[in-house]
Amino acid sequence: MIRLAIQSKGRLSEQSISLLKESGINVPDSKRHLLAQAKGFDLEILFLRDDDIPQAVASGVADAGIVGRNVVAEKGETVDTLMPLGFGACRLSIAVPNTADYTGSGWLNGKKIATSYPAILKNWLAGNNISAGVHLIEGSVEISPAIGIADAIFDIVSSGGTLVANGLREVETVMESEADLIACPGLDAGKRALIDKLVFRFNSVIHSRGVKYVLMNIPHNKVDEAIKILPGMRSPTVLPLAQPGWCSIHSVVPEDALWQSIEQLKKIGAEGILVLALENIIR
Ligand code: ATP
Ligand code: ZN
Repeated sequence: MIRLAIQSKGRLSEQSISLLKESGINVPDSKRHLLAQAKGFDLEILFLRDDDIPQAVASGVADAGIVGRNVVAEKGETVDTLMPLGFGACRLSIAVPNTADYTGSGWLNGKKIATSYPAILKNWLAGNNISAGVHLIEGSVEISPAIGIADAIFDIVSSGGTLVANGLREVETVMESEADLIACPGLDAGKRALIDKLVFRFNSVIHSRGVKYVLMNIPHNKVDEAIKILPGMRSPTVLPLAQPGWCSIHSVVPEDALWQSIEQLKKIGAEGILVLALENIIR
């Protein structure tokens, strides 16, 4: 049995539960309880505030956890980072009022910066030889310059809309973040084996995101051309059809290249094109 800590409610909560579900691990609906036994894997879920996950994992209260890289960096706990999970993407940036005459990071010397991430900020300031005041504030960091609490802010940015709405502009990107799977260092062999199984399942789900399974019929003499158009994982599968001179091609195509490939394939005579969703890719 392993215990996995995930965010109880918040931005990473639903996507953590979906990733588990797509990996064949069902989290019971009573998910607001602190601890729940999952179905489909020897695992229990510990629901925590994201801020408490790094310490829970570092101390072994949980064996593994799903949490933003920014939170792990801020807390400074020693954990093993096993894999990025492809959701919760954001960046931590310094932003200044639009009216500021910002020309470079030296502008920050002697200024006051409001943030909920003091450790990451202090680390960056020290690394850049900047001496600035760090003002810890838990919520609504973005209003600090307008109300005179600080000259600049250091906060999470995803689309940038909040900054624009508050008359701020992003001037320094300090770190990129997404949700990571983390584990307690030094787990015993039994737990380690379960975590490896979990990583394997997560990888197969993540690899299947952003790709489609495409099959089509094509005249036999066009197969070479079609193979050039279709990238495939290794190379496309080509199967004969009962009708002489025709065959069927199957391939896995990245979503961003899908329509362009299909247009080219139609041009060379492909028919009966089917595009299917993929659930898992086992490599
Ligand atoms: P908790 O109640 O668990 O303490 P929280 O309010 O601290 O939650 P959320 O706002 O739910 O945290 O964000 C969780 C994580 O989602 C962040 O630490 C970050 O890694 C990620 N994230 C991605 N995009 C954003 C965004 N636009 N704003 C805030 N967090 C984001
Ligand atoms: Zn939090």
